[in-house]
Amino acid sequence: MPHTINKSSHQILHVLTYHRVLDKHDPLQPDITTKHQFSFQMGIIKRLFNVIDLEEAIIQLKENRLPKRTIAITFDDGYRDNYTTALPILKKYDLTATFFLISSAIQNDQWLWHDLIIEGIRALKTATIDLSSLGLQQYPISNDNEKLVATQEILRHIKYLPEPQLKQFINDFKSLTSISNNTRFMMSTSEVRELSNEGMGIGSHAVEHYILTTQTPSASRSNIIESKKSIEAMINKPVVLYAYPNGKEKDFNAEHESIIKSTGYLAAFTTCYDKISLSCNDYALPRVSCWPSSRIGQLLYFIRLAWRVR
Ligand SMILES: [Zn+2]
Repeated sequence: MPHTINKSSHQILHVLTYHRVLDKHDPLQPDITTKHQFSFQMGIIKRLFNVIDLEEAIIQLKENRLPKRTIAITFDDGYRDNYTTALPILKKYDLTATFFLISSAIQNDQWLWHDLIIEGIRALKTATIDLSSLGLQQYPISNDNEKLVATQEILRHIKYLPEPQLKQFINDFKSLTSISNNTRFMMSTSEVRELSNEGMGIGSHAVEHYILTTQTPSASRSNIIESKKSIEAMINKPVVLYAYPNGKEKDFNAEHESIIKSTGYLAAFTTCYDKISLSCNDYALPRVSCWPSSRIGQLLYFIRLAWRVR
């Protein structure tokens, strides 16, 4: 069946993206949702939207039977707070969500590379950090504000390095800051299984959190294929949804889309901001995020989204 059947302006799906849900505001990750914000947002969503499992929503969209004001909730990466903090809130409101996992981080209890940078800078008690030996500069880090600026500059600098160079940078940074990553950041395989058994959707986000276009063709291929196999083995169910690491338009190409399709995924999601309609490419589906931090801002955001006012 072709992917763009029954064009209809009524068939609109919003897919909401979250990453972590923190116990309290983090000055080094100011845009990350807190527990109170998440709970407030779920309360609004429960009242304004039909919340549907993402895989089911895609099927209903294709069959032209999606209810009005439908939203699906997603989480990227597989952080442990998704299980400890978000899951109880989702259950309280009787909502379902889909969790896109980084399979090796879950299986091997590894930190994602951006967390190593954030936590490395956070732990330092010095007034500055000198990264000139790593091709960067010296940054002041005597307070949270300076640490935030330094962290953002380092992440911006390394994000699009080719995978081997990024790995090397992270190793050098680790030895420079002597960070001890003894806190568990990601979910365990048994927590993932429990999420799945609770009726939550599980998707793949890659084996390792590298932007596909920064990897060699064979590495990106295995990032797409092996993550599906690993997560299917974890939950003993088929995995048919994929979310691109970083997910901007330049972060994947037509070759990646075709590998995703031939691997048996039903759809793949970006972080490009838009609603999904029947005319969208199934392997580059956009999502939305709620950025406002004030309660009135969050409420207005979802009211506008529900009635498609921009
Ligand atoms: Zn991610």
